[in-house]
Amino acid sequence: MQRLAKLIYPAQCLTCDEMIEVTRGLCPTCWSNTPFIVDHPCEACGRPLIGDAQEGDLCDDCRAQPRAWDRGRAAMLYAGNGRSIVLRFKHGDRTDLAHSAGQWLANAAEPLITPDTVVAPVPLHWVRILRRRYNQAALLAARVAKLHDRPYIPDLLKRSSATRTLDGMTAEQRRDTVAGAIQITAKRADKIKGKRVLLIDDVMTTGATLTQCAEACLAAGAKGVDVAVLARVDREA
Ligand SMILES: [Zn+2]
Ligand SMILES: [Zn+2]
Repeated sequence: MQRLAKLIYPAQCLTCDEMIEVTRGLCPTCWSNTPFIVDHPCEACGRPLIGDAQEGDLCDDCRAQPRAWDRGRAAMLYAGNGRSIVLRFKHGDRTDLAHSAGQWLANAAEPLITPDTVVAPVPLHWVRILRRRYNQAALLAARVAKLHDRPYIPDLLKRSSATRTLDGMTAEQRRDTVAGAIQITAKRADKIKGKRVLLIDDVMTTGATLTQCAEACLAAGAKGVDVAVLARVDREA
């Protein structure tokens, strides 16, 4: 009961553990130290644009190489406190973060929601689910679907074989590693015919995994694909 109450009404800041009264998850200091993305991000990948960007503008990368999906949003940058929140969520067994993080992501994804939108997570291979015990993308996707009252399809996509962790690979290595690894679950294909799929993941780096997912959805008859991630890596180091 204690745990449930904490889950629904976080009383501690999710990053510094200071007691707080508000329910958006962070104390005022951590909130202002977290690089949330506001105002006209890149329409396709959610990265912040500099200068006097207009709604619908694309970043240089997305202009040079159009994305497999239509629109994308990210709640925050994968940097500073944004990075520590993702790492706590990913490796620290902090599923309680999904409540607030899912809310931030739902807010960021709001412009992408249409009456035809269905929500699905980027899949984690079962070997990695066993190791990590949960798919953080699925926790976020479930929350976004619930907050926007859209259908949620947790098993829309699956991985055909275990892919190695992408950390530390170049963009090209990432593309090769995930190529062909993601498929639509056949019995779910009917649920996306003529619909817009909103794909959810925790982090976007190059977008290689999201590209595979988007292509699989489009090949299965989705009308369009949009993506929303908790954190966007702005530039590869
Ligand atoms: Zn704090
Ligand atoms: Zn972009």
